[in-house]
Amino acid sequence: MFDTLSDRLAATFKSLRGKTRLSEADIDATAREIRVALLEADVNLAVVRDFVARVRERAKGAELTGALNPSQQIIKIVDEELVAILGGDTRTIRFAKNPPTVIMLAGLQGAGKTTLAGKLARWLKGQGHSPLLVAADLQRPNAVNQLQVVGQRAGVQVFAPEPGNGVGDPVDVARRAIDEANRRLFDVVVVDTAGRLGIDADLMQQAADIRDAVNPDEVLFVVDAMIGQDAVNTANAFAEGVGFDGVVLTKLDGDARGGAALSIARVTGKPIMFASNGEALTEFDVFHPDRMASRILG
Ligand code: GDP
Repeated sequence: MFDTLSDRLAATFKSLRGKTRLSEADIDATAREIRVALLEADVNLAVVRDFVARVRERAKGAELTGALNPSQQIIKIVDEELVAILGGDTRTIRFAKNPPTVIMLAGLQGAGKTTLAGKLARWLKGQGHSPLLVAADLQRPNAVNQLQVVGQRAGVQVFAPEPGNGVGDPVDVARRAIDEANRRLFDVVVVDTAGRLGIDADLMQQAADIRDAVNPDEVLFVVDAMIGQDAVNTANAFAEGVGFDGVVLTKLDGDARGGAALSIARVTGKPIMFASNGEALTEFDVFHPDRMASRILG
């Protein structure tokens, strides 16, 4: 991931090496190269414009004092601005004062929600929590079963509708799951919801109904990073239809360019909380904007 972007930025910075001061023309040329590099990485145009304008402005105003030479100074500015567009500080789940903390997953079908539910449950367990996974995706015939398999792998309990009792009503399942969590002292509830292949009104309404029924502490929008710019459009639709508190990027392992990762926090104004980079339950981590920026800058 970010291979081309990293290479291009490295080449840009290299061309500044050895200069003792940067002229306006140097800064403009550098800004242009950064712009092309970001656009090639499929970063959202508005994000690119803003990013480049800030780098240019800061580079022109930079005091050439201290230990950094001009090239190091530009790298530092780009690093800080990358951290900023990636969301700034690391932010993960905020646990409710009165358990259970309710986390709801929303996103398109195939985004990786069910897989993510297992990863998140495993992570929560590692943090000393006792999570309950809830199968409120009743659209796909196999979704309940898939969540049960994932739950088993993660070693956590799954609340699923019993045949003949509540099947077909994900809102009811979600509501009963919260009661179950209260009764059996699970301190975190992770609700997996249905997705469709495309954005549609029914899907949004169902997700909104589940949200209203369980009053989640965190709604996580799960999005496949491989869809690039479409991730931003999908995010906007979910922001409007359901609302969310944070983003989970999945399939970062397949996203060669990095456009979704570099656009989504800034465009949505919501933090990227977690990243998933493979099918295995272990291929998952808290998202750290500063580490991601360092990775891009090599
Ligand atoms: P859902 O429809 O949103 O519940 O999506 P699923 O969890 O069923 O995932 C859809 C497909 O993507 C499955 O084949 C998963 O194994 C795969 N998948 C999920 N997360 C990742 C990931 O981070 N990387 C890769 N390469 N595949 C993933």
